[in-house]
Amino acid sequence: MDSLEDTLQRLRDTFRAGRTRPAEFRAAQLEGLNRFLQDNKQLLQEALAEDLHKSAFESDISELLLCQNEVELALRNLRNWMKDEPTANSLLTKTSSTFIRKEPFGLVLVIAPWNYPVNLTLVPLVGALAAGNCVVLKPSEISKGTEKVLAEVLPRYLDQSCFAVLLGGPEETGRLLEHRFDYIFFTGSPRVGRIVMTAAAKHLTPVTLELGGKNPCYVDDSCDPQTVANRVAFFRYFNAGQTCVAPDYVLCSPATRERLLPALQRAITRFFGEDPQRSPNLGRIISEKQFGRLQGLLGCGRVAIGGQSDEGDRYIAPTVLVDVKETEPVMQEEIFGPILPIVTVGSLDEAIEFINRREKPLALYAFSSSSQVVSQVLDQTSSGSFTGNDGFTFLTLLSLPLGGVGNSGMGRYHGKFSFDTFSHHRSCLLAPPGLEKLNEIRYPPYSDRNQQLIRWAVGTWSCTIL
Ligand code: NAD
Repeated sequence: MDSLEDTLQRLRDTFRAGRTRPAEFRAAQLEGLNRFLQDNKQLLQEALAEDLHKSAFESDISELLLCQNEVELALRNLRNWMKDEPTANSLLTKTSSTFIRKEPFGLVLVIAPWNYPVNLTLVPLVGALAAGNCVVLKPSEISKGTEKVLAEVLPRYLDQSCFAVLLGGPEETGRLLEHRFDYIFFTGSPRVGRIVMTAAAKHLTPVTLELGGKNPCYVDDSCDPQTVANRVAFFRYFNAGQTCVAPDYVLCSPATRERLLPALQRAITRFFGEDPQRSPNLGRIISEKQFGRLQGLLGCGRVAIGGQSDEGDRYIAPTVLVDVKETEPVMQEEIFGPILPIVTVGSLDEAIEFINRREKPLALYAFSSSSQVVSQVLDQTSSGSFTGNDGFTFLTLLSLPLGGVGNSGMGRYHGKFSFDTFSHHRSCLLAPPGLEKLNEIRYPPYSDRNQQLIRWAVGTWSCTIL
């Protein structure tokens, strides 16, 4: 087996030789990825069931189909995305051609988490390959079933001279990060995001950080409680709450809380039956470590719904907590499990103030029958994404980017945003080799007349006059 150094050198050599640049090569890799997804659908579904107790249906709609959509979009648009983008010209550069070239960065490192281990590993890969990079993929060591398929089967479908899967946990990833990459795309926690960014800083490597945090969900008094309860419960308990954009806690008035509680109970029973542990549609907690952490959170505030857990099965019931204090762990850390605290506020302004006092979230949700209220929350807050009256359906759209702001991350991807993220946008100006007479005026010594002309030309940024 190659040493790490040999592997990285092999990929760098491939990139330097220009092998990954032609559209045909990129398309061949994307087609390989597509075949991998098609040929190994069942294997991936089984791995996801093993890792997270995902049903085949849930795996399809939240992982496999989304990857396939990304690959197909990239294949359809690759040549168009790769085209030089002509830009506006000025009077000063009128005789030149100016454009933006999207060029690959070189050797890219993609580090993925465990909660959607196929989607969050392969969707960035689509962008990186489409943009013509060589890629090192580091799947999560926690989602072991998926990690195995990605490590053993995926490389057979891609050109090994430009692609490698490297395995490991914090220690191995730390060692990997000591090497120089041309771009690092990281999805995971803000804590590890800081480690990645610190390592990247050493080489001035640009990064995308797709991080997490606590996503507020404001519910106002005008809402129909059952509709809100259905939507919030569906998106909170999907994948057993292990979703970076899931509503993390509800903010509402005490009166709305009382209306929501029985409605949430009805939604949970409708979705998962009287005994949710027996439902095929409820996921499991990924690891014992995460299970222990979540069990600790069940002790915050008062359990209003659920609260049961079974360590042997890594099962935690869909739970709603009330009377939680802001200082308790459940309101301090990202929950990332099937637990939903309801925090009461006196008014919309108070809810907005509560949200703005905290780190900028990855996602923010506002439920109201008044579009003015939804707009007010949108206008007066900041977050990676915003949804009025629904959950994270926006993730299925390739036209909307996924990305955080502040503590929830930097950069964005999905669809064409992925291609742009993995491409350096190179500013290009091609001047004619001749026409020196026209340039004479810009050289010193500057006559009054030439100064005047240059000032005018520099001040006329867009050449609409000529
Ligand atoms: P994590 O940060 O623990 O791990 C992510 C990756 O980093 C893994 O591949 C892991 O091996 C590696 N890693 C862990 N510790 C490391 C270290 N000390 N040095 C170097 N590498 C290290 O995250 P996780 O537990 O896998 O995922 C959960 C987190 O990811 C949550 O915070 C969630 O919100 C976030 N997340 C964000 C998005 C998004 O799109 N923004 C999507 C999914 C998950």
